[in-house]
Amino acid sequence: MSAFREMMKDKKRIVIKIGSSSLQHAETGGLDYIKLEMLVRELCNIRNQGKDVVLVSSGAIAAGKKAVHLTPDRMEQDNAIAVKQACAAVGQARLMMTYQKIFGEYNQVTAQILMTKNTIVDNLNRYNAHNTFSELFNLGVIPIVNENDTVATYEIEIGDNDTLSAVVAALVDADLLILLSDIDGLYTDDPRTNLDAEFIETVPKLTEEFMKMGKGSTGSSVGTGGMNTKMQAAVIATKSNMDMVIANSNDIRVIHKILEGENIGTLFLKNPDEGFDLPEFVEGLNQ
Ligand code: GLU
Repeated sequence: MSAFREMMKDKKRIVIKIGSSSLQHAETGGLDYIKLEMLVRELCNIRNQGKDVVLVSSGAIAAGKKAVHLTPDRMEQDNAIAVKQACAAVGQARLMMTYQKIFGEYNQVTAQILMTKNTIVDNLNRYNAHNTFSELFNLGVIPIVNENDTVATYEIEIGDNDTLSAVVAALVDADLLILLSDIDGLYTDDPRTNLDAEFIETVPKLTEEFMKMGKGSTGSSVGTGGMNTKMQAAVIATKSNMDMVIANSNDIRVIHKILEGENIGTLFLKNPDEGFDLPEFVEGLNQ
């Protein structure tokens, strides 16, 4: 086991992001309860070790679309954004209901936190959000975060949950961010189109060369994040003094394996940058 992987055992505050495509059945769009249940067990187990954990969960829009039996043509109408936001309003409540039900089986209390860009950019909002998270950790609660898609319009959206999870991780001073996705991690090139693409186990420093490797997309049609948003998350996380791992959510049990130091996914090593200004960075997103 490498020394860097060995250090995963000592992580005390962990943010875990799971994407929509990892939470639903590709064929039907319905929630994958087996995966959800495994995810909840993994998170409860982290809490039981006395560590703080935050879940950043996508899936609101996907769950809402399913609930209201939305047909693809409705999504293409002029008011597509309003349709999406309406779906998020329905789906977020469903998602939380499902999480609370499963977490409840393990006597674990959860909280819902919905954020927008302003939560970070506005000093008072950021201060309040930071204090709320701290108090939730003190109370042993697991915060479940998503973007407030119902009110977030283009100007105030963070846009994708890869970036959101890194922003949250920086806000709460986490020491590890895990992005669970439908890809194994970072490759030298897109492995679906280039059979010679090689898997990268560790990124010691985010150089231009590594950033270029992340240009491709995952090809997932349900979430909004591709590899480029994961690289953006890596910039935020590593500059904010935390390691980050991208791993495949095919097997949700990778979470505890990563925390036990197993060589899974791509590990991005922290590279603290004193000059990194989170509010300023977030303000510049999607402009
Ligand atoms: N906030 C969106 C949702 O819950 C997902 C964004 C993303 O997948 O990155 O549906």
